[in-house]
Amino acid sequence: MNRSLESFENITKFKTIGVFTSGGDSPGMNSAVRAVARTCAFHGVQCIGIEQGYRGMIENKMIPLGPRDVSNIVHRGGTFLRTARCKEFMEKSGRKQAFENLKKHGVEALVCIGGDGSFTGANIFEQEFGIPTLGIPGTIDNDIFGTDFTLGYDTALNTVVEAVDKIRDTATSHDRIFFVEVMGRDAGFIALNAGIASGATQILIPETQDTFEDVFSALETARKNGKTSSIVLVSEKDELGSVFDIAKEAKNHFPDYDIRVTVLGHIQRGGAPSCLDRVLGARFGVAAVEGLLQGRKNQMVGVKGQDISYTDFDKAVKQHNPLDNSMVRVAKILAGT
Ligand code: ADP
Repeated sequence: MNRSLESFENITKFKTIGVFTSGGDSPGMNSAVRAVARTCAFHGVQCIGIEQGYRGMIENKMIPLGPRDVSNIVHRGGTFLRTARCKEFMEKSGRKQAFENLKKHGVEALVCIGGDGSFTGANIFEQEFGIPTLGIPGTIDNDIFGTDFTLGYDTALNTVVEAVDKIRDTATSHDRIFFVEVMGRDAGFIALNAGIASGATQILIPETQDTFEDVFSALETARKNGKTSSIVLVSEKDELGSVFDIAKEAKNHFPDYDIRVTVLGHIQRGGAPSCLDRVLGARFGVAAVEGLLQGRKNQMVGVKGQDISYTDFDKAVKQHNPLDNSMVRVAKILAGT
């Protein structure tokens, strides 16, 4: 065995660690579950998979996860453990039931793969019942503070770029303007980066407070510069309104333009995870199990630059990842000329 693998020293020895996926799903979650199960096996810890997040904890849906139980999942989208939103876990009585079930299976620590809601639940659960948890940020939105990348974001970007490339073909053929809505909740990461990668004429994101005049002038400039078709990427929570509202205003302003709307929707959450998300899931899974064994709790694993980082749940759920303004500038320079 490789010496660097041997040199890892456990401080806390858990017999059993549970892993679950919770809240919104994202590509790469399976890679993370696989890594958790196999890192547990590597350190001689039993791994239990909890189906459907907190709901499965309350309903006692738990299965042993040995290294072979997670074969053939690394390339699959979604989460084979399935995920759920669970109102009962918001109540102390639900959390007590979850604790009783975990105790039956000997689960002493948890890895929670989810978003800020799931981490908030895990934080409260630890304070009440003392089960240490480490979180893995699984969301396509990339909006969680404490990590440069969340699991699923890169795959979603690639899905959007592939879809917009196809829309561009038909937009070019017909001299059309397409307003394309993408996901991202309150954050514009998907729209901004996919917009740059797919050559959008304009990118509307909640962080930049654009006006309708900005939209009109970008389209006008594009026409003057010889563009016969355009793609405008719109973040789902843009402050100007829905993609349909924005397209309607544009049509009123430019009655002669052939304007169409596409909402990409849930295809952005599915599909085989990209190489980057598979690797990220693997790194996060190893870091979560080893972090627990090192005595960490109530923290989220992340990646900063090239390195693994740990951020307290309190911090991770209260703040949001700031958008890189230099990227907004890149988008403006490239789209405006
Ligand atoms: P995400 O983890 O993707 O942000 P949600 O916000 O829907 O998704 O949270 C997932 C689940 O986490 C909820 O359905 C609930 O069971 C649990 N949860 C969220 N907030 C709390 C809370 N304040 N107290 C207890 N559990 C919570």
